[in-house]
Amino acid sequence: MYRSISDFMNSVATRNTGEPEFHQAVQEVTESLWEYLKKNPHYLEARILDRLVEPERMVIFRVPWLNDLGEVEINRGYRVEFNSAIGPYKGGLRFHPSVNLSILKFLGFEQVFKNSLTSLPMGGGKGGSDFDPKGKSDNEVMSFCQSFMTELQRHIGPVTDVPAGDIGVGAREIGFLFGQYKRIRNEFTGVLTGKALNWGGSLIRPEATGYGCVYFTEEMLKTKGESFDGKTVAISGSGNVAQFAAEKVIDLGGKPVTLSDSGGFIHDPDGINQEKLAFVMELKNVRRGRIEEYAKKFGCDHHERKRPWLVKCDVALPSATQNEINSEEAKTLISNGCGCVAEGANMPTEPDAVTLLQESNTLFGPGKAANAGGVAVSGLEMSQNAMRIQWSREELDEKLQGIMASIHNQCLRHGSDDGNVDYVRGANIAGFIKVADAMLDQGVV
Ligand code: NDP
Repeated sequence: MYRSISDFMNSVATRNTGEPEFHQAVQEVTESLWEYLKKNPHYLEARILDRLVEPERMVIFRVPWLNDLGEVEINRGYRVEFNSAIGPYKGGLRFHPSVNLSILKFLGFEQVFKNSLTSLPMGGGKGGSDFDPKGKSDNEVMSFCQSFMTELQRHIGPVTDVPAGDIGVGAREIGFLFGQYKRIRNEFTGVLTGKALNWGGSLIRPEATGYGCVYFTEEMLKTKGESFDGKTVAISGSGNVAQFAAEKVIDLGGKPVTLSDSGGFIHDPDGINQEKLAFVMELKNVRRGRIEEYAKKFGCDHHERKRPWLVKCDVALPSATQNEINSEEAKTLISNGCGCVAEGANMPTEPDAVTLLQESNTLFGPGKAANAGGVAVSGLEMSQNAMRIQWSREELDEKLQGIMASIHNQCLRHGSDDGNVDYVRGANIAGFIKVADAMLDQGVV
């Protein structure tokens, strides 16, 4: 048995060399579980933590495809099937040039706890490729997706592993992937979530991560007797999560003032309203343009290659990618009076920045709790597919709000101390217990 956190982390680092993002995710979870594990040594004796950090299966494969010039291109595909103790592997596919095993293992590991928090029967997994859909034609994206699925289909299925979207994988890519699965397997099943509405998708799925993040944040604000009404909100990203987080902030009376992409961020002090957001959705989802165009269209500032956290705000919702708030940026947020940070993205806040935010009593909602709404509605999409029914928008939105409130309650139950809530500890312990107990029940497998 391990004597200390560093003892355990040394063993993780030795077995998983060159995987900094994975180490970062495991370190955060281990730190918040350690005292709990010492009080509950049966988990340590059964080596549950050691088993949890070891994926059940990892598949890495070649993805050859032809570009529009008829040239051969080669990418690498991955699926990390992390843990199936409480249900089939479930988690997104990411297509981005930065994708590597470390990033997918960190995402898959986080997904195990996140899916557990939703209370739905879903294990954790993640996958993707270093393919970059940006700048590719629809034909090239289809060619890549078909080649990727030709291999992936051997490993997934509606009761085995059910992927969804993530960065770079939206409705278009899910369509091409589903088409190829159906063609090879000759079956129409709920093997992917995030499908279009007319062929098995769920209402509210596109909105779910962003809306869910805002519902969770509203619950956090309520603990201080506050709400979104009248609050200035800084949001990063301008993709799926950021767009629908902005929409729900506007619905609840808040004022989003920033959005970003990898080229920089826009600052609109008058606020991004529904009409301006419709422009962003068309820009990003249809024309696939850069956020800089927003600044030109609406006459506000674009800060090239910068992130939004220097802007004064009451609430920050990082919704682009991992490690996008560092400790300097956390200090700026704190000194500008930001009272709440909730992670729409996965692990956007660096560990030192999390510590600074928590020490300054800024409400801090970690991604595995705050952005669990997406996978929760994916779970509801699986249920609808299995029952061959479709719930209404109102029913699904109500279920989503109920799930986010329940995740918040679990964080309070396991993370409250002297009037303060450590949402990181609360989410990690609550997510751990369900998976760990299932693993104990199922023996050494
Ligand atoms: P999208 O691909 O729709 O959008 C991603 C956004 O982030 C884009 O604006 C993109 O800009 C920006 N971005 C990506 N990488 C970088 C980078 N390295 N530096 C700066 N900006 C970057 O993805 P999603 O909105 O789906 O995902 C965003 C985050 O939310 C991810 O962390 C994802 O894991 C997480 N998440 C998503 C869920 C979902 O349901 N979609 C569920 C739970 C979590 P550009 O276009 O210039 O690359």
